[in-house]
Amino acid sequence: MNNDRRNKCVLVTGAAGFIGSHLVERLLDDGYTVWGMDNFDPFYARSIKESNLEKARSHPRFGFAEGDLRDSGFLDGLFDEAGPEAVIHLAARAGVRPSLLQPQEYYDVNVMGTVRLLEAMKGSGTGLMIFGSSSSVYGARSDQRPFKEDEAADRPVSPYAATKRAGELLCHAYYHLYGISCYCLRFFTVYGPRQRPDLAIHKFTSLLATGQAITVYGDGATPRDYTYVDDTVDGVARTLRRIEDEAGAAFDIVNLGAGRSVSVNELVDLLAGAIGVEPKIEHLPPQPGDVPRTWADIDRARDLLGFDPKFPIEKGLELFVAWYNEQHAET
Ligand code: NAD
Repeated sequence: MNNDRRNKCVLVTGAAGFIGSHLVERLLDDGYTVWGMDNFDPFYARSIKESNLEKARSHPRFGFAEGDLRDSGFLDGLFDEAGPEAVIHLAARAGVRPSLLQPQEYYDVNVMGTVRLLEAMKGSGTGLMIFGSSSSVYGARSDQRPFKEDEAADRPVSPYAATKRAGELLCHAYYHLYGISCYCLRFFTVYGPRQRPDLAIHKFTSLLATGQAITVYGDGATPRDYTYVDDTVDGVARTLRRIEDEAGAAFDIVNLGAGRSVSVNELVDLLAGAIGVEPKIEHLPPQPGDVPRTWADIDRARDLLGFDPKFPIEKGLELFVAWYNEQHAET
């Protein structure tokens, strides 16, 4: 533990979610005082989010406030009480496909919610922000090169992706106008224990483990960069150190991925191997809003943050399946 971090308070929005709950535990381990906020959005069960928070809740340096990101009064009260020096903003409506069904809800939470948060930061003089963005902002790239942060990223193909890019642009505006340091981290498909139940690896595991067929959209050749959650969280923790150490206000956009792509077919084979079953696969046409490939160029993360992903997909899937089996052995 680093005792020099003990007096620093960090606010994590979306703390009860998949990535947020892991991040809270990591920051507590690193010696920070951590406040979490979350509204237990019904996108998936509250009971799952409550259990995500269980370990953190018993920690003496953890505080939690239940409330909605879009509620300015709630945010102002929280900033008064917690007095955070930095905010890590992960609260969002996540997921590409559901954003086609509820675009207004996605806009409201991801864009308006981010504005309200930045306004609360401005009002309270909180000067450091890390924003959880997404690889989806790169849009439907069809060439074979890894995605680099300098690309225009102005052709989103889902409302979700558009809201995430809008969040990055808002961060830049508040950096420019009010000197709030902002690092926007583009996460590439994150997986691991507590993964959201709507995401492919979790869904596939449930189906494979119960002998059911899995649905793959398209021919399964789609390459994706899958990042184990401990690597993502390590990248966020490194960014926090980096942003704290900046001499003046700073803005940057950084990919956090594994830096390697595997096809959905390879993923299914690896997962089925880890579970010990033969996969049954049904193919359906590609879904609107899905991007054809993702692949992170992580040179900037390596250079700026010393980011060095430790979990190859084979290892990460084994750990995920072990966690899944443990959960299901308990019930
Ligand atoms: P998650 O759904 O598990 O976590 C998000 C949390 O935000 C939830 O606990 C939810 O209750 C909370 N929330 C939603 N609306 C809120 C509101 N109005 N007020 C307060 N809290 C609210 O999702 P996750 O997978 O942990 O993703 C975390 C962040 O990372 C999100 O911003 C997501 O867009 C981004 N991201 C995730 C991935 C991934 O693969 N999981 C990839 C790219 C980007």
